[in-house]
Amino acid sequence: MGNTIIIAGGGHGGIALGYQLAKRGYDVTVYEKHTRETMGYDWTDIFDKKGLFAAEMELPAPDKFCLKQDMTFIGPGETIKLQQHTDPEKLEIQMERKAIYDHLISYAENAGVRFVFDCEIEAPILLGSRVVGIQTAVGAVYGDLIVDACGIRSPLRTKLPAYLGIQNEVQPFEQFYVYRAFFNKACETKEDKFKVQLLREGKLGICWVAAEEEHTDVLIGRFEPFDLAEVDRTLQSLRRDNPAIGDTVVRGGQFVHIPVRQPLGILVADGYAAIGDSAFMTVPIIGSGIANSLKASHLLCEAIEADKDGAFSAYTLWKYQCDFFKELGAGLAPLACVKLLLTRLEPSDLDYIFETGILNADDMTIDADSTSLGAILGGMKMEDLKIKAGGLVKNPAVLKKILRMGKELGVATAVTAAMPKVYDPEKVLRWVKNYNACFKH
Ligand SMILES: Cc1cc2nc3c(=O)[nH]c(=O)nc-3n(C[C@H](O)[C@H](O)[C@H](O)COP(=O)(O)OP(=O)(O)OC[C@H]3O[C@@H](n4cnc5c(N)ncnc54)[C@H](O)[C@@H]3O)c2cc1C
Repeated sequence: MGNTIIIAGGGHGGIALGYQLAKRGYDVTVYEKHTRETMGYDWTDIFDKKGLFAAEMELPAPDKFCLKQDMTFIGPGETIKLQQHTDPEKLEIQMERKAIYDHLISYAENAGVRFVFDCEIEAPILLGSRVVGIQTAVGAVYGDLIVDACGIRSPLRTKLPAYLGIQNEVQPFEQFYVYRAFFNKACETKEDKFKVQLLREGKLGICWVAAEEEHTDVLIGRFEPFDLAEVDRTLQSLRRDNPAIGDTVVRGGQFVHIPVRQPLGILVADGYAAIGDSAFMTVPIIGSGIANSLKASHLLCEAIEADKDGAFSAYTLWKYQCDFFKELGAGLAPLACVKLLLTRLEPSDLDYIFETGILNADDMTIDADSTSLGAILGGMKMEDLKIKAGGLVKNPAVLKKILRMGKELGVATAVTAAMPKVYDPEKVLRWVKNYNACFKH
């Protein structure tokens, strides 16, 4: 029986999977390019605590997390504000990224997972069409199953042969280029402590400014790469409406990437499974991926356990593919069509959408359970629908864009649902071609 599992990259889902597998007697080693001390970013994250429970973990000690603040969405023209009002029961938790890693790694180490830090992975090793190992900077390592938890720029996924049908690269408008830093707090902020602005100054992207106790958290995200000069220019403009942003970066201050796209079409090959950002498991319109990778870790663990012969072939791992799409992927994929709509809207369109109530504060209250459009729209009242329809018919340009999205969304939902339930290479390759075609900009 195949028992040796290599987790390539210390992504959240990979470590959580390692913990669950080691508990069940598998021999698990995580290879991570950072040292233990430099792993994880120097900032906080917000995620659904149910992710931890799905991965068979408890919450950390109460002093390690707090509840997320509700956000205030501001239209591009700054004419309107929509204030979220999340049910406290559904609020996500906010934790230091390094504390999340401490939590996951301590579970994994206690269960017997070995960690090899400071070890750069260069490429997958294939024998025929099977992934049998990883090439690292210090030599080759072989295992019965290689789990790709290397993130969006994974050196495994990007180097898999095309005939496996696993998309190697992200396409335009499928990732956010992000700059994030914590600045010293120049003054106190009384209201709208967590402001999110879409299409600010007509730029295709998002800015957030969150006033925290000790600092002001600023995130600038765009669909195109940008440089420090553009960061400085944007900061100057942000400081005009957000005097709490000081002049000194006290934490973070780096460029990173977030997948904002549909999940990877094929998650598995013989000897290989992708999880977390390497499989694009973030919620496409908000970029949250921690809880989904933790939830996916349990689904992959179940598929591995169900494979009693330890074959870890695409055929046996297909259970993970099906369970992931059933539980999460089928909801996430259509949200990529909503993201595409955002890339096509003019700032004036978005102001109109907010001002006329086509999108209201309830719609923007995206909580921990909002991992599908159904979950976001489920609570909509008839009165709201009338207001939305009224707003739409009065603006044919916006209506046209929303109708286009509706059509794309319907097709994406239908194609995703038609995923083969049993692994058959020809059928799977045919399906993934259709799936990928649903999300073209
Ligand atoms: C600015 C920013 C803010 C975010 N905020 C949130 C948030 O609030 N909530 C949320 O849920 N999500 C958030 N996300 C997304 C979240 O980080 C990811 O979706 C989540 O961490 C899952 O990704 P991952 O763990 O699979 O990959 P990653 O976090 O990218 O981890 C991959 C790991 O693999 C390692 N690795 C990569 N390449 C190699 C290599 N060649 N060799 C060895 N090791 C390698 C990396 O060092 C890293 O440890 C944010 C992302 C960014 C960039």
